[in-house]
Amino acid sequence: EDFLRILERIESGQELDRSDILYLLSTQREKEINTIFSAADRIRKETVGDAVEIRGAIEFSNYCRKDCSYCGIGSSNKCVKRYSMSEEEIMEAVHSVKAMGMKTVILQSGEDSRWDTPRLVRLVERIRNETGMKITLSVGEKSREEYEQLRNAGAVNFLLKIETTNRDLFARLHPDDDYDHRLQCSLWLKELGYLNGSGNIIGLPGQTLDDIAGDILYFKEMGINMIGIGPFIPAEGSRLENHPTGDIDLTLRVVAVTRIVCKRVYIPSTTALASLDKDAQVKALQAGANTIMLINTPERYRKSYNIYNNKNMVDMASAAYAAEKAGRPLPSYIVWQAVNPGHECIVG
Ligand code: SAM
Repeated sequence: EDFLRILERIESGQELDRSDILYLLSTQREKEINTIFSAADRIRKETVGDAVEIRGAIEFSNYCRKDCSYCGIGSSNKCVKRYSMSEEEIMEAVHSVKAMGMKTVILQSGEDSRWDTPRLVRLVERIRNETGMKITLSVGEKSREEYEQLRNAGAVNFLLKIETTNRDLFARLHPDDDYDHRLQCSLWLKELGYLNGSGNIIGLPGQTLDDIAGDILYFKEMGINMIGIGPFIPAEGSRLENHPTGDIDLTLRVVAVTRIVCKRVYIPSTTALASLDKDAQVKALQAGANTIMLINTPERYRKSYNIYNNKNMVDMASAAYAAEKAGRPLPSYIVWQAVNPGHECIVG
């Protein structure tokens, strides 16, 4: 009964409310679950097409002034070997991402005071001038003025996940953060014309399906453009190191329902999913996801950006595998360029 009514709403493009979303997240009926995944896959195809977009991420510093309970690079974690890349090291990594044929580079870090805004502004300008690449920043919370300076310098996308929209849970996980402030940051990013990235973690302690339904509605109401949905994975030395891993199937379901509700958005098949099971990345692409982020952090630092245990170093080979297996193979010139960086592709 309920399901047919919800399905009708989906088919006719009507909005779903919180109880509809909760139903889609909780049903255990095999047939209904399959219908949810195929609706998500269809909407993905209609709204963003079949291409799997590949972006290169450079995790340029693991210093962080914050101490989120779940995160492996929180300030109180003494197991972490800290690094902060120099401008030259970052530029070298950016050039290698470009040589692989990618058009967007994602710069991610902890909240590192060594990389203050004037220094970041210079870096963004240099990347724009030297490579013309699109720049996504994921460097945490800043003032409106700072976001504006970075936007003016040429950054176009910003990824700042809300993590959970349950305020009490947010407060418990973030002893040194404030929900309203994080929300305000996201609103500033939107006002400043960034493509606004958010997302959540699935499997946080005490998180309910109703909380997750609230997250999805939040993404919709905020007009979020990129939504990163990842399972919680314990991180050694963090306060949640003994909390169980988030459920893969639930994470895939959240991807699907988010696609159904938010429609024309970017949804990555996340590194966190790939870290639990390489086929989960394939399944996410079949459940509504349309992008993959490659890890392009220099080899010598990769292991130290351990935001959670056994992080998968997603490379072009694994992205090509996932895309191919999902039935949406990457264009051969992208794969070719990645294997032969810097050479012109011979299409023939
Ligand atoms: N400091 C920036 C920020 O807060 O936006 C960017 C870096 S932060 C490490 C990037 C993302 O890692 C967070 O948004 C969070 O969702 C994810 N993350 C951290 N620890 C995690 C864990 N244990 N399991 C799953 N995701 C985690």
